[in-house]
Amino acid sequence: MIEKLKDKYVFFDVDGTLSEYRYNNKLYSGGCPELGCQTLEDLLFSNLFSKARPLKTMQKIVSNLDSNRVFVLGTTVTNNEVEQKYTWLKENYPNIKHENICFISSTMLKPEVILEYCKHLNINKEDAVFVDDRLDVLRKAEELGITAYHPSSFVEKKYIIKKYMKIGIDIDDTLTDVKDELYQAAVDYAKSLGKKIEEENDFEDKNNNGNKWQEVFHFNYQELKYFLKDIQEEITNKALPREYVVDVINKLKEDGNEIIIITARDYEFHDDPYKYSKDWLDKNNIYYDKLVVNARDKKKACVEEKIDLFIDDSKTNCLAVASSGINTIRVCNEVTDAENCFNNWQDIYNYIKSNYNS
Ligand SMILES: [Mg+2]
Repeated sequence: MIEKLKDKYVFFDVDGTLSEYRYNNKLYSGGCPELGCQTLEDLLFSNLFSKARPLKTMQKIVSNLDSNRVFVLGTTVTNNEVEQKYTWLKENYPNIKHENICFISSTMLKPEVILEYCKHLNINKEDAVFVDDRLDVLRKAEELGITAYHPSSFVEKKYIIKKYMKIGIDIDDTLTDVKDELYQAAVDYAKSLGKKIEEENDFEDKNNNGNKWQEVFHFNYQELKYFLKDIQEEITNKALPREYVVDVINKLKEDGNEIIIITARDYEFHDDPYKYSKDWLDKNNIYYDKLVVNARDKKKACVEEKIDLFIDDSKTNCLAVASSGINTIRVCNEVTDAENCFNNWQDIYNYIKSNYNS
């Protein structure tokens, strides 16, 4: 199917095409005919679009297309909706360029907008493709000579979850829980150096390269290196696995899955990240088929290792991996309302058993 989109200029609708068309378990808010599953109150004041479920099949397709030829053509009612959709698209479809996103107020105008884009970009309308979930507008586009697809055309068998999976698992704060201890150690070290410490409520080293530690604690490069190599290694070496980790990984293995440990522990700040990780895994009796280190870019590592399901504590890592169509589970200490977020490995096992491997 994706072959048909190769080298084409593809215009994707948002609701019902890139995201699930459903809100509060309803298809229609019942408010007025111009509104869909959201009420006017939702559209004006809530953050519903930030919570929309991206569709894995579409994420996989979009991430494989040339980003210069991918467009979003959405219909919106309020500016609240527009802002949330920009953020949501950036997180869930990072391959889509900001300048290629167009929001208009009338769905039926979309075919004309595509023709206008063709004229503006100097491309043949035969090279444009329109993907939307509304049949009336798809028919109109087709009548005007634009190739039109409903999302159902893309749902192929090969994207269905496999019986046996390659499961990728992070180490720090996923198999262990060292976040608070590490943060406190950084505070103590920074204080001993007389550093100013910046206020930070949601600490996350988003690029997995130590930048965030420098930003918050003002470590220079040598201090960062000492912190990550000496202080962090000492804490992580003596850390114990979270409750149920050893048993759950053994059970996942017995169920037929492959376990690939994927860590961002790197060669820049550690002498031998492979040995450093292997020693800890072996000492704590954690089963694995393969160990991948130096994976700052978890999305790249997961795609290269052909991972089916990835487990990590970082929201940034999970979003990046999920944007390539790979399923993710997030380990977090605080309870959230996200359906794939857990603070307990027994719950992770039950979730995997009831959603996959069947
Ligand atoms: Mg981690």
